[in-house]
Amino acid sequence: MDDAEREELKARILDEIADTEERIMGLEKATEAVAPDKALGRLSRLEAMSDKSVNDAALSDARERLGQLEVALTKVYQAGFGICVTCEEAIAHERIMALPHASQCVACASKGRVR
Ligand SMILES: [Zn+2]
Repeated sequence: MDDAEREELKARILDEIADTEERIMGLEKATEAVAPDKALGRLSRLEAMSDKSVNDAALSDARERLGQLEVALTKVYQAGFGICVTCEEAIAHERIMALPHASQCVACASKGRVR
């Protein structure tokens, strides 16, 4: 991976961090406790609670994703970044963007190979 590719990847990771942070803020708002005195009927209150559990799950996914992206960002300039730890071939760009914390190429990961 050359410097230009690293720069491009870094920019894309930063973009995605910004998107993910935005999503987390939106979800945090959406998952604020449903106030008991809120003028909701019984049914819509149940709906609100079920939305909340969906949003809670989405929020925890988004936080995990953010953590992965932040790790990837710290690794962009490390020598081994983008290199499969198992076969030492370059990991495809698309895979790094989809899974910035990936340490294996698609072939090795799908075979479940370990170093
Ligand atoms: Zn590999």
